[in-house]
Amino acid sequence: MVRHRRFASVKDLRAVLADTIPSDVYHSCAYYENPDFDMDKKSWIGSDLVFDIDADHIPTTCNKIHDEFRCLKCGFSGRGITPESCPCCEATKFETKIWACNLCIQSAREETAKLMDILENDFGFSQNEIRVFFSGHRGYHVHIESEVVHSLDAMARKEIVDYVTGLGLAILDKEAKEKKSKRRNKASSKFNLHNYGWNRRIKIGMQNFLLDATKEDLKEIGLKNRALLENRDTVIQRAITEGRWESIHGVSNQTWLKLAECIRENQASKIDTVVTTDIHRLIRMNGTLHGKTGLKKIEFPAKNLEDFDPFIGAVAFRRGEVKVLVSDAPEFRLGEQTLGPYKNQTVTLPTAAAIMLICKRRAEVAC
Ligand SMILES: [Zn+2]
Ligand SMILES: [Zn+2]
Repeated sequence: MVRHRRFASVKDLRAVLADTIPSDVYHSCAYYENPDFDMDKKSWIGSDLVFDIDADHIPTTCNKIHDEFRCLKCGFSGRGITPESCPCCEATKFETKIWACNLCIQSAREETAKLMDILENDFGFSQNEIRVFFSGHRGYHVHIESEVVHSLDAMARKEIVDYVTGLGLAILDKEAKEKKSKRRNKASSKFNLHNYGWNRRIKIGMQNFLLDATKEDLKEIGLKNRALLENRDTVIQRAITEGRWESIHGVSNQTWLKLAECIRENQASKIDTVVTTDIHRLIRMNGTLHGKTGLKKIEFPAKNLEDFDPFIGAVAFRRGEVKVLVSDAPEFRLGEQTLGPYKNQTVTLPTAAAIMLICKRRAEVAC
């Protein structure tokens, strides 16, 4: 890892990259008086506000199929999300084999859409201020570079993270609720929602849920209350629109709380919280290749989130073919083509596909 470099121009940077050919390139999200000094002498001026949404942090159903980890100390191995520490020996270093499939990307895209909705509608950033990138692997980066965010310290950024992830809502969290009721010196057991921020989000979420929900949907979230579905329009009108939460026969405060909790869970954006709070964060440089895929980190207009297909738009190598010996690869899509699965076989692949398998250490160039 080569750090603490500064470049006077893009031309200088390009020259160094062409000369050293690093597998990954990052830049700091911070602004410093002296970027090339040691950390404690850099003099921090400010920092962009960055969010990282990665399938690593989203409990998808596909990770059990295509992700594996193995503890480097004791050899314990498993499938799915890599644990923070080994359940056998508590070591924290793992060898991982992870894959990015369409479902990973779709899940990350949904979390990114939730984040952008919060940034626009609750924080008031305009679409022009929100830069969105495909990360080059299986997620998205969202950057806000406006001057208004530069001076936010780590605590302030933690507050933003809490908001985005729906943490510490007075209406739902026991601790926050107790604090509030102590302050007001009365029990705040009555369920109520106002019309701003998360309260508004939960209201809209409840309304949408109630409009479409089946008995099975209710059961899935642990509710048996049929009264919620029997006369949906009345329930929505009286409770959600008029705020008469106690007027629905057979629907208690506890039921509303449970439903609200599910909506919160569903609407919270599963960002990597550590990235956003770090005011010295390094983040992959736009336009460079990801060392695990050979795909580009690439920016696209925020409004195109739904339509941008990373397996087409982020492909860097669009010409030629390479003959490779593949040890093991699931079926995957790159560009317009679906390839694989492969197991211990020599195949001739489009350059981008060959590079992806080589980067993932699942293939070698065949002679
Ligand atoms: Zn272990
Ligand atoms: Zn997947």
